[in-house]
Amino acid sequence: MRVLLTEDDQLIAEGVIAGLNAQGFTVEHVTNAADTEAMVSAAQFDVMILDLGLPDRDGLTLLRRLRQRSFHLPVLILTARDSITDRVAGLQAGGDDYLLKPFDLRELAARLHTLHRRFQGRSTNLIQHGSLSVDPSTRETFLCDQSIDLSRREQSLLKALLDNKGRIVSTDQLKDAIYGFSDDVESNALNVHIHNLRRKLGSQIVQTVRGMGYRLGPASVDEINEP
Ligand code: CA
Repeated sequence: MRVLLTEDDQLIAEGVIAGLNAQGFTVEHVTNAADTEAMVSAAQFDVMILDLGLPDRDGLTLLRRLRQRSFHLPVLILTARDSITDRVAGLQAGGDDYLLKPFDLRELAARLHTLHRRFQGRSTNLIQHGSLSVDPSTRETFLCDQSIDLSRREQSLLKALLDNKGRIVSTDQLKDAIYGFSDDVESNALNVHIHNLRRKLGSQIVQTVRGMGYRLGPASVDEINEP
């Protein structure tokens, strides 16, 4: 899952990034309102974490502005302001959830999963695709009830394809989904992850659409044990 974190406190940001990375999230970090606006128009995210006390503008003003410009992603507000008035203001400005500082990183991760899931209209964390089931919150993948061991990048790649079922996903979109901006991406790295997914979930799971990109295909158990 790709997360945009707007937080000017370096210590908190570092903790959130490390904690979420360890749980399989890809986090982009900005420290002010102007960079947030630039980032949301430049890249795709699944969910946003927003600190309210920002150096250049109040977080609520920023959020209201983003919502007016039809920014529709789920937003979790992170703040030390603890009053009913503040909470109501946060929700009215377009926030979807609210977490008070200091907070537990596991709770933050769990809430992000719930927001993302609700946004996608799913009532449980489990994503079903034929005989394949994926739980993004526990990062478990099952094929015909057999647990499949996927690396973090393979999980992100599979999730990006599942999120776009029936649609063609470009190479750049897939790279965006599995790498952060600061990651050093070797030119053939995406191909390696695709190769591994096909090896583990069947050769049809990632279909190449010539000149356009890739598409999710059926998972198949038959090829799992082949060399
Ligand atoms: Ca702050």
